[in-house]
Amino acid sequence: MASIGSVTRQVASLEITNKRTTNSSSSSLKSAHSKHPSQSNVSKLLTKFAAPNPLHSSSNANKPHHSSSLRHPTATTKTTTTHSSSAARGDGLKKQASIDIGQYDGGLELENEKRGERVFGEAAQELALDSSHLKKYPTREWNLHGFDMGRPLGKGKFGRVYMVRTKCEPNYILALKTLYKSEIIQTKVEKQVRREIEIQQNLRHPNVLRLYGYFHDEKRIFLMLEFAAKGELYKQLSKHGCFTEKRSSRYIDQMADALIYLHGKHVIHRDIKPENLLLGINGELKIGDFGWSVHAPSNRRTTLCGTLDYLAPEMVESREHSEKVDYWALGVLTYEFLIGNPPFEDRSSMKNTYRRIAKVDLHFPPTLSAEVKGLIGKLLQYEPEKRLALTEVRKHPWIVKYRPRTASG
Ligand code: ATP
Ligand code: MG
Repeated sequence: MASIGSVTRQVASLEITNKRTTNSSSSSLKSAHSKHPSQSNVSKLLTKFAAPNPLHSSSNANKPHHSSSLRHPTATTKTTTTHSSSAARGDGLKKQASIDIGQYDGGLELENEKRGERVFGEAAQELALDSSHLKKYPTREWNLHGFDMGRPLGKGKFGRVYMVRTKCEPNYILALKTLYKSEIIQTKVEKQVRREIEIQQNLRHPNVLRLYGYFHDEKRIFLMLEFAAKGELYKQLSKHGCFTEKRSSRYIDQMADALIYLHGKHVIHRDIKPENLLLGINGELKIGDFGWSVHAPSNRRTTLCGTLDYLAPEMVESREHSEKVDYWALGVLTYEFLIGNPPFEDRSSMKNTYRRIAKVDLHFPPTLSAEVKGLIGKLLQYEPEKRLALTEVRKHPWIVKYRPRTASG
């Protein structure tokens, strides 16, 4: 089990690297591409076509819903896909192909000359990740030549992220994320990265960022991710300072729905925070980072992980923890959305933050509604068992009152 100190140091060091790269990324982004795709045009088209819909291929009607046309086409899918792509979706495909993905800055090749080394041995085997080799539902074989490269979307810890379009029909728009293997190995997170990829590959939920496939070359791993057109939620929060109750309630409803799904699959996220959330084309929330999440077959874990401000008391106190740590983090997230900073933050020292978490030293500014204070209070319970169930969160008056009515309702 990792000690609090070692994990916090690791988290802190990652965040420092992160901030630096994020800053440089935003400046290089500005200079790298003067021409952005028209947002409204992209919005309309992406809503329908950007995220490859596993049910899109009409030939797959009888197949398990894991199939998508990004997967290896079987004999049956091949014949029928030809029909569907030319007839049923003909116009849409033309549009998909015409979406402006922005100007490529050549960054991947430039970076690859300077960054990373070839890797060997056991770690290299661990990172030889290719979704075309999956036993269950393998994808097609992918490589960089399969994509038209578009604008840079950002820089992550281990490499750059680009907007891309598949050359093959139906010309899906994706975010292609690169990870340098040698850096993953240096940071000793090869198992964690592999686990993150394996977990994300198996998830299908509208509020969980899809991972459609992955492949690798000598130095890098490439992740084919759902394109989150409205970018990082954290940027929105920084821009506005905080969100209205209505907007916060909409996000928390989607988070609760996604967490119910994840917990149903025995996945505990463990690192919920605004930095790990992205926004889709309609502003819908997408959980995007599974770095710390864990499959929980035994339902109880004791490894300490996550970011300080969102840690539940049982994690701070190094006790066993369960999926209820995500309930706590949802309470912290609700508070941060509404106030602009997390409830137990103490900038003077980490120790004080821990102390405040362990005491549940919670204070509300008078501006908050009684309803949301009630909800946060029910999630931020010291005893995991006393925390409000996620199904109850979704029924809470503060959530229900802001939920848009569906066409049928
Ligand atoms: P970090 O610690 O900076 O979050 P990371 O390795 O987790 O690093 P990401 O956050 O996944 O990297 O990617 C870096 C940036 O690229 C993000 O801040 C975001 O702006 C952009 N980005 C990543 N994935 C996507 C996506 N699927 N759609 C749109 N933009 C994305
Ligand atoms: Mg990230």
